[in-house]
Amino acid sequence: MSKVILKNVCKIYEGGVKAVDNFNLEIEDKEFVVLVGPSGCGKSTTLRMVAGLEEISSGELYIGEKLVNDVPPKSRDIAMVFQNYALYPHMTVYKNMEFGLKLRKYPQEEIDRRVREAASILGIEELLDRQPKALSGGQRQRVALGRAIVRKPKVFLFDEPLSNLDAKLRVQMRAEISKLHVRLQATMIYVTHDQVEAMTMADRIVVMRDGLVQQIGNPLVIYGNPRNKFVAGFIGSPPMNFCDIDVLSEGGKLYITDGAFKVKVPAEKAAIVKAYMDKTGKKSFYYGIRAEDILDQKSYAGTVDENTLKANVEVVEPMGADTHIYADSGKTPLIFKLDLEAGLMKVGDNVPLVMNVGKGHFFDRDTEANIAELL
Ligand code: ADP
Repeated sequence: MSKVILKNVCKIYEGGVKAVDNFNLEIEDKEFVVLVGPSGCGKSTTLRMVAGLEEISSGELYIGEKLVNDVPPKSRDIAMVFQNYALYPHMTVYKNMEFGLKLRKYPQEEIDRRVREAASILGIEELLDRQPKALSGGQRQRVALGRAIVRKPKVFLFDEPLSNLDAKLRVQMRAEISKLHVRLQATMIYVTHDQVEAMTMADRIVVMRDGLVQQIGNPLVIYGNPRNKFVAGFIGSPPMNFCDIDVLSEGGKLYITDGAFKVKVPAEKAAIVKAYMDKTGKKSFYYGIRAEDILDQKSYAGTVDENTLKANVEVVEPMGADTHIYADSGKTPLIFKLDLEAGLMKVGDNVPLVMNVGKGHFFDRDTEANIAELL
């Protein structure tokens, strides 16, 4: 069993920087967990504490049910893959891969078997005699992965392993690491600032900000139910649109307005908003709506019911399969996605749009919490 458990884990660096504040997480055996957040949010520090490269200021860390706070890195049965590969430049690929096993005094036969097996999994058999300087970035990263695989560790730790690769290779390696996870059936903890990597690779995502965990969950659950405005804005591309809105109650119906557009809130959502307003007396919110929930009127399949607005097209970005449009709706800039046909909008067009208002989220102006989470 290779569970990893962090209980009330804190890290305060010398000088008083609180890099990680009360981190709690139980990572299941064979789970792929991604820690994601902007630079400086404490994700590397958390990973390095699991690796034993950074002391834990307070709290408890268990690997495979054993308390390891005071266990040195080499005895934790983990392997780490770094952004800069950390290969020995003067050693061949083979020697780089066998290094950790030699250190642990494995028999040469076993070492050879493991190195060749890992090289075959990663498709780098032909590179075993080369030195790192004769390899591309992607090949070096494969060697770094190989060096971790041969160890057959309980837990794999990845610290931004794809950041130094170009965009195309990053996408390819992302899929390879996901396949590797399935094949090796190992527990993996992966740190990245890239929310797309987090969304595509994780069983569960941990979103962090300023040393604090913001939300933990399955990628699509987080995408659909962000706990606060930060998570809502961080997860998803293009990012969620946010509007400063007031809620109006007219004839038993609720509307939202940013001063330029005014749209009706459908009954189910209106009930949640009304309950929150009754409880708190608040009438102004941040309203967040994703690009795919704003549509052009021609291609909107649902019933249009007091949820239309007009916007001036400012930028048109053809993405191939669809088109991203940046538009000005009077007060609030909006980004939305259109399919290819509807994407024939031009800069300067004043276009009619439909907002799928019920799909949006209301965030408290003071706490930035998603009000749906608070009722
Ligand atoms: P991330 O990996 O999310 O970019 P880090 O874990 O590297 O964030 O850093 C979290 C916070 O701790 C940052 O404010 C950073 O400046 C600080 N920090 C990181 N390493 C040290 C250190 N060795 N000494 C002091 N502060 C540090």
